[in-house]
Amino acid sequence: MDYTNLSRREFITKVVILMSSSFYSGKVFAMTDKDWKEKLRPEEYDVLRKEGTERPNSSILNNEKREGDYLCVGCDSKLFTSEMKFDSGTGWPSFFDYIPDSLEFKTDFKMIIPRNEYHCAECGGHHGHVFKDGPKPTGLRYCNNGIVLKFIPKV
Ligand SMILES: [Zn+2]
Repeated sequence: MDYTNLSRREFITKVVILMSSSFYSGKVFAMTDKDWKEKLRPEEYDVLRKEGTERPNSSILNNEKREGDYLCVGCDSKLFTSEMKFDSGTGWPSFFDYIPDSLEFKTDFKMIIPRNEYHCAECGGHHGHVFKDGPKPTGLRYCNNGIVLKFIPKV
């Protein structure tokens, strides 16, 4: 980033944004809450930035069986491939693995029992929770909100 043409106030604002975004996601992604509101549709914003959960069976991706890639709707980072997807019957798109380094994890206590929340490593956007009842080979189930995934079919 080029700081030479910034005013002192702009510079401080940018530094604060950089610090707070890297504190949350581990990486630098300089978008303010206002920026996200403008970029995302309200239902995407609610999940990605406010850790909301879509209604079960509401995502068209539940029945998506074509070959392709699943990207983060916030930043287009590739999170999953169709080879990692399975039908969990839970009503949310489910995966047993993810693209290396594309996700980061934290434990949340919203349901009293600790759950492992995960978010996009690139933009920090919330995607879902990981549970230990998935199929082989990992035994894990990444329960993802379909609304914050962008499916790109293989051509
Ligand atoms: Zn992202």
